[in-house]
Order: sequence, then C-alpha cells, then structure tokens
Amino acid sequence: MLFLRLFFLVIASVPHPVDHLSFSRVLATHGLELRRSRTEILQLNVGKLCDLTCVHCHVNAGPKRKEVISRETVGRIVNWLTKTDIPIVDITGGAPEMAPDFRYLVEELRNIPQVETIIDRCNLTILLAPGYEWLAAFLAAQRVGIVASMPCYQPVNVHAQRGDGVFDRSIRALQLLNGLGYAQQPALTLDLVYNPNGDFLPPDQTELEADYKRELKLNFGIDFNRLYTITNMPIGRFAAWLRHNGSLDTYMELLVNAFNLASVSGLMCRNTLSVDWRGEVYDCDFNQQLGMRWRQEKPLFVWDLDPNQLEGQNILLGNHCFGCTAGAGSSCGGALVAPGRIA
Ligand code: SF4
Ligand code: SF4
Repeated sequence: MLFLRLFFLVIASVPHPVDHLSFSRVLATHGLELRRSRTEILQLNVGKLCDLTCVHCHVNAGPKRKEVISRETVGRIVNWLTKTDIPIVDITGGAPEMAPDFRYLVEELRNIPQVETIIDRCNLTILLAPGYEWLAAFLAAQRVGIVASMPCYQPVNVHAQRGDGVFDRSIRALQLLNGLGYAQQPALTLDLVYNPNGDFLPPDQTELEADYKRELKLNFGIDFNRLYTITNMPIGRFAAWLRHNGSLDTYMELLVNAFNLASVSGLMCRNTLSVDWRGEVYDCDFNQQLGMRWRQEKPLFVWDLDPNQLEGQNILLGNHCFGCTAGAGSSCGGALVAPGRIA
C-alpha cells in the first residue's frame, strides 16, 4: 500500500530469548520500512497519577506518582497545536482527570478551531471518586469522547485485573455517562477497552463487542458505542508480572509467532504523535514509557517541532512492537485487521 519505505533504528527494549527475531528484522524480511504518515492524532499523556494500580498497566501509574503536567506545559502544547492541522487530541495518563489542570487543558483544546475531537481515556472509577463529582457533567458539556477501560462484563475478571470493587464502580460510572447522553447522542461517544486478563491475545473484537453489548444491556441497562480490544504490552507493570510468573519469554514467543503483516500499515505510530507530561515527543505511549526519545542527547519538546516536517520521519522500533502486530493487531483504537486477515 501507500506507505512504507524501510528505515530502522533497533532499540531492544525487552530482553528475552527471541531478541534475534527483532521486530525490525522481521519487517525487513518483508521489505518494509516504517515511517510517519500525516499526523492526525496528538496523544497527550498528562502524567502517571492514577487512583488504581492495575496489573496490566504499562505506565506503572498509581496514587503516589508525582509526574503530572503543569499549566505552563499545557499552554505551550496548546499553542503549538494551534499552528497545526491536527484534528484529534487523545488525552491519557494515569487517570488524566487527576491532573490539576485537566479542566484547563480541555477548555483550551475546545478553543482550537481545527480540533474536532477530544478523547479522554478514562478508567471510569475516577468519575465516582470523592472530589470528582463535577467530572462526568464537565466531559459531557465539553463534548469529550470517552474511551473507558472495561476488561470484562463480569466482575471476577475486572477485580482480578483492576482491584476489588472496581467492577461495581465501573458499572455505576457507565450508567452515569448514559444518563448524561453518552452513547445516546452522536457527539457523546462512549467506547470501551478490553485487554486480556493474563498472558494471552485478545479474542475477536467484533464477536466480543456483541457479547459486551448484550450482557451490559441485559444486566445493567448500559449502552456504549464501540469495543476496542488491546493486546497487553510486555513492558511496565505487565512485564514485571510476566517476569514474576516466569512467563515473559513464553509471552514474547506468542507475540512473535502471531506476527501479522496485514497489521503493519495501520500501526498507530504512523499517524499519532505521542507527547508526555513534560512536553517531550515520542512515537507512541509505549515508546514514551520506555524512554525511547527521538533525540538521545537531550529532550526534544513538541513546541520545538515543525509540524510540516513530521511526515516521512522514521519510527523508533523495539521488540515490544510485536505486541502491536500480533493476531488482529492492536492500537489505541483497537484491532487493526479484520478477522479474515489474521495470518
Ligand atoms: S491501566 Fe489505567 S487505570 Fe489502571 S493503573 Fe494504569 S493508568 Fe491507572
Ligand atoms: S509499540 Fe506499536 S505503536 Fe509503538 S512504535 Fe512499536 S509498533 Fe509503533
């Protein structure tokens, strides 16, 4: 397809016995090169502060983390965005809403004419946390699309992954969002995210979405728009969990063996610019957590970039990238490949 010319910088981010099958070399065997296309999404990770400490978290987020975006950094990023034609801003964390300047950020983004879509990656529990009573109504008033973690429609799996009581709070939060018009009005999208509760690949996204819709509606009266299946990446807290269980090597082999060439053209690093809480740029949130800087010698901040120079730039790759190309592929927008195209 229209995309690829090969250029690789190999950064081995996950030491394991399949190092010799590095992601870069697998792509090279197919004669591919991976470069940025037009930037359509700025994904801003506003920090690592979170009310939860999920097992699968690649950010190592939690209530004691101190890394959080400042108002000055918000201002510099917003100012840079006004000079671009990027239409989508995807806010993530941590629990992004816990950043003290979250409200300011959203309001400033809403004032940028070309930013059509603002997404909040929400863990749902924060909507019911003390001190955040304003949050759900604020998101609805600002027409912020919500992408919410919901690893199962049954309590047992959610509790195992996210902690006791999280399922019930998530259900109440979803009902609250429906009551505010989410998944009822076109401007208020509510998408859910499934990720496996262990060291296996997600099931078929379309079939699972149908199961979620049926079960959540039947048992709790909940509506949502789309379900995204996302593969657990072998980094951060999930990598530590795999190591603890002695299954990191097996999991990497699973990802490598499930490599799907058809997923490569849709990799999110091609059209997404990832920015951290300090304003530094990365190819994706995973590279961000691994510290895979665009410029090794010193930080490169988004406000130092010429937005017109991004297209065609090379992408930093590591063996964790196998997590994005396994099976149906995986991205912040879910599976990359229709079921019939899984190798
Ligand atoms: S996975 Fe999301 S909700 Fe869970 S600890 Fe990480 S940032 Fe928080
Ligand atoms: S981890 Fe995935 S999104 Fe990030 S650079 Fe690798 S393939 Fe691209």
